[in-house]
Amino acid sequence: MNAENEYAPAELLGPGGALWLDKVAAFDGLAAAFTTRKTLEEGPAAGFEGPVLDDDGRINEEYVARLCATVGFPYGRLSSCRQVHGTEICRVVVAERRWLGACDGLATDLVDAPLAVFTADCVPIVLWAARAGALALLHAGWRGALGKIAARGVSRLDDYWQVRPEEVAVFLGPGIGPCCYDVGDYVARAAEAAFAKRAGQVLVDEGGVRRLDLYRANELAAQEAGVLPENIYRVATCTSCEAELFISARRNGKAAGRLMAAAAIERAGAGATGDGI
Ligand SMILES: [Zn+2]
Repeated sequence: MNAENEYAPAELLGPGGALWLDKVAAFDGLAAAFTTRKTLEEGPAAGFEGPVLDDDGRINEEYVARLCATVGFPYGRLSSCRQVHGTEICRVVVAERRWLGACDGLATDLVDAPLAVFTADCVPIVLWAARAGALALLHAGWRGALGKIAARGVSRLDDYWQVRPEEVAVFLGPGIGPCCYDVGDYVARAAEAAFAKRAGQVLVDEGGVRRLDLYRANELAAQEAGVLPENIYRVATCTSCEAELFISARRNGKAAGRLMAAAAIERAGAGATGDGI
């Protein structure tokens, strides 16, 4: 990836202690934010007590509401999904607070209808087609990345809104880096099956320890779907290395909380895509 397409977390840090895509021109017309630990120290989010996840791994609803209030997304219009580490993507046609079932991505063309996914090491992915006004937000751990949910997201934008892949801008939010993501034989074999000759680009082998590069896997999957390399961006970080800023399931354990990635299409005229009247 071009160095100019990589952003340090500090460059993106904005209101509510979240990382915002406002500075990335390719995402004009979109309000997109990745919460951090700083979000949990500010405003309504700071008042949340009690576990983020219940015994079944479900995310506390009050936590979601407080995060939305802190970063400024309308909670009552927020769609999220019961993530299952798969590659299904649901289309959001109504802007109301709800969990869509058993999927790992959401897509919409509704204005002011935020989508959200929740992560701790998995990579949140924003797909934005400005001309069509079409948005997708995905959750990609190793199963999603190797199952190429990024490519599926590009296909969905085409299915629903006739978006061509070269019109799609992709942003890879904070996830675990290859520095910290040791994987066993099972995952390594899945990576080889998914990327064949290019598996060496997603599997780093250091003295017999294999590590998976989730960012690279998602980038390759998007490119396979026809997204142009220059339209793929990322935050240059590792959620495990930068533990003071992010939440890492690897570092903090299974009971670690979750960060929220949220994105909403802005009203025409509200942003740089406005008609200037
Ligand atoms: Zn790391």
